[in-house]
Amino acid sequence: MNKETYQFTYEVYNSIEDLTEEEAWLLKEAREVTQHAYAPYSHFQVGAVAKMANGEIVAGSNQENASFPVGLCAERVLLASAASIFPKVPVSVIAISYNNENGKSDHPVAPCGICRQSLQEFEERLRHPIKLILGGMTGKVFVIPNATSLLPLAFTSGELAIGS
Ligand SMILES: [Zn+2]
Repeated sequence: MNKETYQFTYEVYNSIEDLTEEEAWLLKEAREVTQHAYAPYSHFQVGAVAKMANGEIVAGSNQENASFPVGLCAERVLLASAASIFPKVPVSVIAISYNNENGKSDHPVAPCGICRQSLQEFEERLRHPIKLILGGMTGKVFVIPNATSLLPLAFTSGELAIGS
């Protein structure tokens, strides 16, 4: 028997002011985009803004539904938009913020499990890491070098052994 350890390194900044100019701009945009969310049920509005490898900017926000499982997270709305508008162009970085009408928005919140799965496959299929900038309306900011690091022991397309 062997014991294995999984770890990854990410950056923690005390506030948006400590980010690079571009990172700070993306996070500010993500904060703005929370206003585009349709979240009448959770009152948890999420905004995500990506810079693509070709320099273009794409945004997403969470879109809920009275049939709750129909709802989509901001991250997956963004990835679907990015792949539809700019097919085969990698996403370089995504800033994600949120406005919690029921509580505080003063710390970073990470993507949910389903979104981690989507982000992992997006990185894999375009062979490009996606840097994540996570921050609330105020407070600390996390910068994570790639999305796949948030999904250890991921189930990937390779497991399906298509074509083998
Ligand atoms: Zn999600």
